[in-house]
Amino acid sequence: MSHTIGLDIGGTKVLGVRLDEHGSIEAEARQGSPHAGLDALIATSLTVVHELGGDGDPIGVGIAGLVDRGGNVLYSPNLPTVRRAALRDELTSATGRTVVVDNDANVALLAEVEYGAAAGRRHALLVTLGTGIGGGMYLDGRMYGGANNFGAEFGHFTVDRSGPMCACGERGHWEAIASGSALGRIAREFVGRSGGAGIVAEAGGDTAAVQGIHVGHAASKGDPDALHILAVYADNVALGLAALANIFDPEMIVIGGGLVELGNLLFGPLRDAFGRHLEGLDYRPAIAVVPAHLGERAGAIGAAVLARGVS
Ligand SMILES: [Zn+2]
Repeated sequence: MSHTIGLDIGGTKVLGVRLDEHGSIEAEARQGSPHAGLDALIATSLTVVHELGGDGDPIGVGIAGLVDRGGNVLYSPNLPTVRRAALRDELTSATGRTVVVDNDANVALLAEVEYGAAAGRRHALLVTLGTGIGGGMYLDGRMYGGANNFGAEFGHFTVDRSGPMCACGERGHWEAIASGSALGRIAREFVGRSGGAGIVAEAGGDTAAVQGIHVGHAASKGDPDALHILAVYADNVALGLAALANIFDPEMIVIGGGLVELGNLLFGPLRDAFGRHLEGLDYRPAIAVVPAHLGERAGAIGAAVLARGVS
């Protein structure tokens, strides 16, 4: 099978691509995500598949949340109306095609291994810094999902028992201090306490509207408060990356999510802090901490790569 379809189902949109055997995108389509249960999600997915063409091409799907090896979406934080849903079987019935479903971060890592930042690596982790923290593990030359395919939930281990509450209901998880959302919260706390006029100006003068991106904009202009906040945030991120590196000993950690656009404003302090937290930095091969290459299409491309394996 030379061509495959990949769908990335997120909280805001369903993004689809049709990929050729060399990884070139031959068609792309997107629709807003419905929030009205599985049937509505199937209908929207069918629309995207129809727009992409490619009659009979197998379909891969990446979706946030807990996805078991039978393609059932048990729980998806961004799609609360889709629970214990037999997504693979329903989409197979609706399309008459071969369908395979996996977690969105897992397929994004598959894309980065096949065509992106981790090409040629045998041991790579993916960490996405978004609303939460997503993760994927590629170990010894293959994707690793654990007993139920629920592994790589990197955001949910405790780094500070007295830290802020995590979206999952536990206190002090890494995600609560190191996600993209956490950068916004840290910045709002800072400007509420210390002013941070340069950052507030980027948010239109509204301290309550400050988000991570405003810190990035101010930092790119050399604002010292913004650079300070980014250093604090980078240290929070590095704390978890070093723990993961100590446990898995990867060759590379690929960082995804919108904050990657900050470039060296983030990766400079992040690599410094990672080195400080990593065990035995001077006595081991370097572990690369690099930005993802494939951007917002990584999930859809990886889902299409996944579909090759079942065609
Ligand atoms: Zn949590």
